[in-house]
Amino acid sequence: MSAVRPFPVASIADRREPEFSVVVDESGVPLANGERVEHANFDHAASTPCLSTVAEALSEALPFYASVHRGAGHHSRVTTEAYERARRSVGRFLGVRTEPEDAVVFVRGTTDALNLLARSLPEGCTVIVPESEHHASLLPWEHPASRAARVQRLPLAGSPEAAVEAVRTALAEAPEGPVLLCVTAASNVTGEIWPVRELVRAAHDEGARVVVDAAQYVPHLPFSLEETGADYVALSAHKLYAPFGSGVLAGRADWLAEAAPYLSGGGASAHVDTHDVVWNDLPARHEAGSPNVLGAIALAAACETFTPEVLERRHVSETVLLERLRAGIAEIDGVEELTLWGPEHPRVGIVSFTVEGIPADLVAAALAAEHGIGVRDGLFCAHPLTRHLLPEGHTQAVRASLGVGTTGEHVDRLVGALAELAEHGP
Ligand code: PLP
Repeated sequence: MSAVRPFPVASIADRREPEFSVVVDESGVPLANGERVEHANFDHAASTPCLSTVAEALSEALPFYASVHRGAGHHSRVTTEAYERARRSVGRFLGVRTEPEDAVVFVRGTTDALNLLARSLPEGCTVIVPESEHHASLLPWEHPASRAARVQRLPLAGSPEAAVEAVRTALAEAPEGPVLLCVTAASNVTGEIWPVRELVRAAHDEGARVVVDAAQYVPHLPFSLEETGADYVALSAHKLYAPFGSGVLAGRADWLAEAAPYLSGGGASAHVDTHDVVWNDLPARHEAGSPNVLGAIALAAACETFTPEVLERRHVSETVLLERLRAGIAEIDGVEELTLWGPEHPRVGIVSFTVEGIPADLVAAALAAEHGIGVRDGLFCAHPLTRHLLPEGHTQAVRASLGVGTTGEHVDRLVGALAELAEHGP
């Protein structure tokens, strides 16, 4: 083995120093304290590894892919068909409606999807959004390009019932005109599942619409526009075991059909002359430029793999591992789990915590360097929520997120490592 360097236990103080980063052997296997160790990936909430079904779909498409919609040649026709098939697959995965028909627009990810919706709002639209949201769903409404006439942030709610009540109050007080409520289906900080159906009911009672940020939910549980009644949903491929750069905004077509194209350019335009542009209908209207066909095919392959039955089954087994992890953490003095709605509230496979006396980045560095465990540390692009949940004396937290490939051994290794850290320090 080359490149083996010891980790001076007392001095993992600055992980920017090269000697404190994860060391791999000559074949790329991570080493923990100089030992080969199977990498325990607890960072699925950030991005997920590629499924083999996704890799297969990509390798089938690679020899043929071409630009879609504009070529008469064989490759272009095959690719166009694959791209539109991918759209139908993703639509089925999200339970899109046919009467009236929902639009399925390929975008770059959840952030992109919500920015697209923010630019497609009708005149005078009020947006209501809980402050606990990920920045991707909190901020696009306030961007200069957003068409929101006003944005109302709701303070953090102490229970799901209080969250629904706060939404009801905000809706009742909203000025005349269209209203959009933006909510997450599952928190990327605590994994807690939001009462989407109740929120949709509350919004629809007042004639408002709901967009659901399902980025963290769909890798764990089935989501359906038809069943929840939500008006829009956004997701990212890279959180659903397909590569980066692809995602979807799906939902009610009318606002999107009337909005100016998200980007101006080829594909979005049907006719251009010296004096005039006629923009295309949906979905091409919002897919200007050469689309990410391989990204769409990869995302569709993931959607086809994660049937509702597969997701339900995975959720059961993942919950067993999650509860083992949470129970282990609860036993360790000085390790505190972050929760908005209490330890009993249903959640997906995400748990954030702090370790008393040790900054989160140091915990993460020690877990990687000494135990081959990959977690995330920081405020997780949900600053208001994470700051609110942090115990006194902490400025950041550590997040462990489970996914395909997480094993009982990984969980036990993480619990053991945290117990050691909490007792002896890094
Ligand atoms: N929404 C939630 C709940 C997330 O966790 C994330 C990413 O962490 C996003 C939105 C943004 O996703 P993307 O970076 O793929 O646009």
